[in-house]
Amino acid sequence: MKSVKKDIRALTKEQLRDFFVSQGDKSFRGNQVYEWLWQKSAHSFEAMTSLSKETRKMLEDNFVINHIKVDLMQRSSDGTIKNAVRLHDDLVVESVLIPTKSRTTACVSSQVGCSLDCKFCATSRLKRMRNLNPDEIYDQVVAIDNESRLYFGRRLSNIVFMGMGEPLMNYNNVLKAIDKITSEEGLGMSPKRITVSTSGVPKMIRKMADDEVKFKLAVSLHSAIEDVRTSIMPFNAKFTLTDLRASLVYWYEKTKSRITYEYIVWKGINDTQEAANALVEFCRFAPSKVNLIEYNPIDDGEFKQAQDTAIQTYVNTLERNGITVTVRRSRGKDIDAACGQLANKQ
Ligand code: SAH
Repeated sequence: MKSVKKDIRALTKEQLRDFFVSQGDKSFRGNQVYEWLWQKSAHSFEAMTSLSKETRKMLEDNFVINHIKVDLMQRSSDGTIKNAVRLHDDLVVESVLIPTKSRTTACVSSQVGCSLDCKFCATSRLKRMRNLNPDEIYDQVVAIDNESRLYFGRRLSNIVFMGMGEPLMNYNNVLKAIDKITSEEGLGMSPKRITVSTSGVPKMIRKMADDEVKFKLAVSLHSAIEDVRTSIMPFNAKFTLTDLRASLVYWYEKTKSRITYEYIVWKGINDTQEAANALVEFCRFAPSKVNLIEYNPIDDGEFKQAQDTAIQTYVNTLERNGITVTVRRSRGKDIDAACGQLANKQ
């Protein structure tokens, strides 16, 4: 039978302190447990060795710790690591460690599956099962931080929310996870090293701006022409480019934080000068830069990476107009860990 005990990490520090008081104990015991749960990322009450045996037993009787389990770790020939992460209800998500010379980046998931329907993304083939809880997002980061220390001898330096799911469709939990990640009582990472990537949900971009978040924003744009974008990202019929653009202008006005546009150039879809010009125009609305990302085929042959000459056309057009552009190569393709390939294949 599944346990009906409450997940202790759903409690705030205040609630933990109150719980101990209600047990006739001191409130500071709540602080101690909180530290074990977050800063020390304890997997069990047993591991909380600064508490008495009785206290540990009492916690055990009342709560569970639904820690994630890394079921399978795969290593790519380029050093990329992919974790298949099992959740307490046996659903699985994936996260990726991407090492470069100077950085270790964690690419984490925010949902099991995805509710959006980008035609070129493997995750969209899985239907959205549920949102991840803040602790399940946090645990993915801790697991990758540990792997980074173990295999690369350094701490995790950056986080991107570019794994499975649409982070802005699970906004509250993503925000709570980031609070823990950036808090001194958690991992103490700078929010400037965190990027939330969205397919573009205008209402939530406005909300983020109002919340004055300190992390960075990336938008998976892929086309700056309304009907082309709708054909590859059907939700664009509802969340139109016009709305998206207005929300991004609002974001920049409020946060003064430059936006990154993720963009794939496909053969026969957006590999024209006209499409590149439309992107330049879109970039003019708010300070931004463009990452041209390599397409990772997901199976059916409908989408094909454009020729190098088309990509060069984009680079030239953007640069001529003073827009920063980088061409990003994919990592971890041999283990299906690259962008858009996360689909729980194992
Ligand atoms: N839902 C969020 C985050 C997950 S997708 C978003 O859309 O931004 C992470 C990135 O991978 C996005 O930029 C997405 O457009 C890109 N991507 C999806 N499928 C891809 C594929 N097959 N090849 C390369 N990149 C892909």
